[in-house]
Amino acid sequence: MESHNCWHCGKQAAESLFCRYCNSLQRPKQDYFRFMGLEPRLNLDAAELQKRFYSLSRLLHPDRFNRASATEKQYSLEATAILNDAYRTLRDPVTRAEYMLQEEGFENGVHNNKEVPPELLEEVFDLNMALEELRGGDHGARPQLERARERFLGLRREVDESLKKLYTAYDATKDRQRLVEIRGLLNRRRYIQNLVSEVEKELAP
Ligand SMILES: [Zn+2]
Repeated sequence: MESHNCWHCGKQAAESLFCRYCNSLQRPKQDYFRFMGLEPRLNLDAAELQKRFYSLSRLLHPDRFNRASATEKQYSLEATAILNDAYRTLRDPVTRAEYMLQEEGFENGVHNNKEVPPELLEEVFDLNMALEELRGGDHGARPQLERARERFLGLRREVDESLKKLYTAYDATKDRQRLVEIRGLLNRRRYIQNLVSEVEKELAP
């Protein structure tokens, strides 16, 4: 981990949030994993992440810096904002992987893919027909849509299981090819999720 000089006392030892010589709050790191004190990994222990979030929230709370210098006040605000974004991003396995892809230089992380995966063409076609019927007032289409929802939720579960295996493989090897595969699955997952949301919107009473 790179070190820098403390903005307050100038000593070259400020690697953590607070300088270990003068205890001044340092400019917060932008990297979500490092900020949380974690190695960049796709499989994270949710309980551990939450524990770190709460303890950092307390340490960085702007109320604790009421009487601090303007620099520390500013850093505590910045750090609190980063902390909240980091926690929100890292606690969800999908947004965590999207973040990792971005950090590893995959342009835009995941694309919002509107193209139908070829193996789903027929099902998506049937689904759109049923959606049209329901929108047109034909409630006979409801059972078909309910079945479609179950089917797509099942596909989403399959994607999630495959993702979990790839996360483990990537953490163990740091092989970029695994990230390429993960990106493909995240695109597929997003496509499926959009279908599920669309069906649920129409089925909502
Ligand atoms: Zn210092």
